Amino acid sequence: MLKFGRNTLFGKIFAVLFAISFVVMASSTFAATTASFSSYENEAENALLSQTNSFANLLKDKTDEERLAFLDKIPMADVRCTLIARDGTVLYDNWADPKKMGNHASRQEVVQALTQGSASTMRRSETVGQDTLYAAIQLDNGEVLRLAETRTSMASFLGGMTVQLGISLGVIVFLSFLASSLLTARITRPLRHIDLSHPLDNDVYQEMRPLLARVDEQRCELECQNAELERAMEARREFTGNVSHEMKTPLQVIGGYAELMEYGVVKPEDNARFAGLIREEATRMRELIDDVLTLSRLDEQGQQKLDPVDLSVVCRSVVDRLGSAAAEREMKIDLDVDDNVIVLGAASLAQQMVYNLVDNAVRYNREGGVISVSLRALTDVEPTEVGASKAKGTVELVVSDQGRGIPEEYRSRIFERFYRVDVSHSRETGGTGLGLAIVKHAVCAFGGQVSVDDAPGGGARFTVRIPLA
Ligand code: ADP
Repeated sequence: MLKFGRNTLFGKIFAVLFAISFVVMASSTFAATTASFSSYENEAENALLSQTNSFANLLKDKTDEERLAFLDKIPMADVRCTLIARDGTVLYDNWADPKKMGNHASRQEVVQALTQGSASTMRRSETVGQDTLYAAIQLDNGEVLRLAETRTSMASFLGGMTVQLGISLGVIVFLSFLASSLLTARITRPLRHIDLSHPLDNDVYQEMRPLLARVDEQRCELECQNAELERAMEARREFTGNVSHEMKTPLQVIGGYAELMEYGVVKPEDNARFAGLIREEATRMRELIDDVLTLSRLDEQGQQKLDPVDLSVVCRSVVDRLGSAAAEREMKIDLDVDDNVIVLGAASLAQQMVYNLVDNAVRYNREGGVISVSLRALTDVEPTEVGASKAKGTVELVVSDQGRGIPEEYRSRIFERFYRVDVSHSRETGGTGLGLAIVKHAVCAFGGQVSVDDAPGGGARFTVRIPLA
């Protein structure tokens, strides 16, 4: 359905088309009317002139009296006949008394007939007081024979047709309305039937193609964003499910041990051991909660504040903190770090990144194995045109151990949340399954990349590359 509001495209097109068709129809009707009127006038003028001519021939070679008698005898009800002397005196008139008529020397048709031999003119008669068509011819003796016919002028012709004119105006308005409505509907049809769900499939005007292409682009973008959002929501749902599942296990274990102690099943001498087991599970839960909180904070924060962080200081402090855990299992940590290795990011995130990598190395290393932590600032020197040089560097952190390593097929998945290679031994090795997910997140926040491969002497080797500040 077309909507012809004040500010609609349809309304505007309709108004323009209506105005154009109205003007065209009205003016062509007017032109046709005036053309047929004037051709009818011409015909009448020629007929009157030829009638005057034949009368003039009949008056040839007649005396003055004979001429007057002849004119008197001709039956002419509709035509006025006047005979005018060369000086303008009216000699004869079948409609008025010649004696009462003024001199006609200045009448337009008389003047012309006297100079050119014949004339015809349309004017208002002073004697009769009506629009009159005159034809005049000069006779041999110099007198002028004039025939006249009362006629309607164009103005009075039109004036007498008000009703007809009103009707034709109505018809013109109706036809203009019909024509412009149909045309508007036709022109706007492609616009009214645009299918915005498939913008490029529409058969529309060429000018609209770029607009529809843009709509299609935005629709695709929106679809991608929706899919992304859907994926993110799905991941969140999955994460929440995993978190509750992971929390239930230590809680059940704690509940079980506590129940045994409550009902006196545990011997008094074993109480300390059970309390220790409960504490271990509680620690495991605290670690899990810490990791979950870290990850959800990372998820929410987006772009973090960028501070300069010295990774060499971070590496030393992490190795310090994990030194006793490694020593307990007779492992040695080789620390080989450059000084002043500055990157941009959050200090706490740098701590967690390095800690999780070294902690995994300690947990998954073989008893008595060596762990190596190396930190290098690699600076490639890029010469510029003006001869100066611009330092563009990367920080490379490598943590490797001598444990079982990570089989190739699992390497792409170990950075996923709660993904564990060896699920059955996960309780023995400890860990939350979130450590590497946090590492990956942190590395991304520092604008870097992390990868894993085999260490030269077996075991896993994690390599982190971050742009130098
Ligand atoms: P977890 O808390 O279980 O260690 P992570 O996210 O830190 O969780 O690691 C995911 C999985 O990757 C671990 O369960 C383990 O199977 C494997 N993994 C991580 N680091 C090492 C390593 N240094 N050596 C062998 N396997 C590792």
